[in-house]
Amino acid sequence: MRLRNKPWADDYMREHDHIVVQEPFEMLGKWSELFKNPKAPLHLEIGSGKGQFIAGMGKQHNEINFVGIELVKSVIVGALKKVLDADVDNVRLVNEDAQDLRELFGENEIDHLYLNFSDPWPKNRHEKRRLTYHTFLDQYEKVLVPGGEITLKTDNKGLFEYSLVSFSQYGMILEDVSVDLHAEEDPLNVPTEYEEKFSAKGQPIYRCRARFK
Ligand code: SAM
Repeated sequence: MRLRNKPWADDYMREHDHIVVQEPFEMLGKWSELFKNPKAPLHLEIGSGKGQFIAGMGKQHNEINFVGIELVKSVIVGALKKVLDADVDNVRLVNEDAQDLRELFGENEIDHLYLNFSDPWPKNRHEKRRLTYHTFLDQYEKVLVPGGEITLKTDNKGLFEYSLVSFSQYGMILEDVSVDLHAEEDPLNVPTEYEEKFSAKGQPIYRCRARFK
C-alpha cells in the first residue's frame, strides 16, 4: 500500500497540529499569531516537499517565521518529521493547494516567498500551471508586502529562463541571478532534497531573486 493511502498520515498531522495547521483558511490575515514572536517577518515556501529547506531555514533563522505549503499529504508528513527533528518552533506547515493562496493569506501578509524546484510543466499547453505564470505572480504580489521578493531555485533551465522572462514582463526587478549556485559556495544556502539530488548528478543549480516594484 502506498503511503498516500495510509490513514496514519492524517492522525500524525493531527497529533502535531501545532505544526501542521488544521484550519489554514481561518488564519487569513492572522498567521503571525501562530508564532512565539508575532512581530517577526513571515516567509512562505510553496511546494515544500519533504521539508529539508524549511526545517533548515527555521533552524538557521530563528528571527524569521516560516510557513510551508505542500499539496501532497504523503510528502508533507516527511516535512513534518523534518521540522520535528529540527526542533524549531518558528515553522508551520499547510497541506493545501497554492492555487488558493489568496484565500489563505491576506494582503501584504508575507515578507518573502520561496519557490524551490517547482514542477517545470515543460509542455506549452501546461504553461498556466507553472508557479511563475503571471496569474500566480498576481497572487504573490497581493500577499507579499510592497516591494516583496521571490527567491526561486531550480535545476531546470527551461523553467529558469521562463521565470526570468515572466518576472521581467511583469515589471519585477531581478536582484540576483546565479546560473551555478553551488560554484559560488554561498555559506547561507540551505539545500533542498531535489537540490542535493540534482547537484550530486553534476547538474548546475539556478537561483534568482526578484522584487515587485
Ligand atoms: N521543494 C522541494 C525540493 O526542492 O526538494 C520539492 C520539489 S518537488 C519537484 C515540487 C513539490 O511542489 C512537490 O512536493 C509538489 O507536491 C509540490 N506542489 C506542486 N504544486 C503545488 C501546489 N499548487 N501547491 C502546493 N504544493 C505544490
